[in-house]
Amino acid sequence: MAAARSDPGTPDRHGLADGVRRHGFRKWYERELLAGHAHMVLAVLASVGLVGLMEGFAEASRADKLLTALLFIACAAIGLWALRRYLYLLNHAEAVANQAICSGCDAYGRFDVEHEDRRAAELLVRCRRCGHRWSICE
Ligand SMILES: [Zn+2]
Repeated sequence: MAAARSDPGTPDRHGLADGVRRHGFRKWYERELLAGHAHMVLAVLASVGLVGLMEGFAEASRADKLLTALLFIACAAIGLWALRRYLYLLNHAEAVANQAICSGCDAYGRFDVEHEDRRAAELLVRCRRCGHRWSICE
């Protein structure tokens, strides 16, 4: 079955249901933010690489200019991918976090996954405190 996340180019190794079952919602959320910020650091490093390559381009020989141009393209591609991934991870984590509050008792992130509908990208969850059930859309 295909992954239900909205980012089809990325393997679903850390799905919401699996992550919440394994670590709990708060740890899953923390891991998503850490992964997102790691991608942001990669995007910043790629930007630094781009600036360095631009600086060296003017003084390079013809053969080095070709290599510099190839490295520039590689850095730009890595930076754009990392930035896209960073924004996706943060937006996904925030979208799920906004739905993680129990309307029965206002408990935040204290739920168990009862059922996962991958086709609809939806989880049926139950509050650990009051037993209220609701759906979380990914
Ligand atoms: Zn509750």
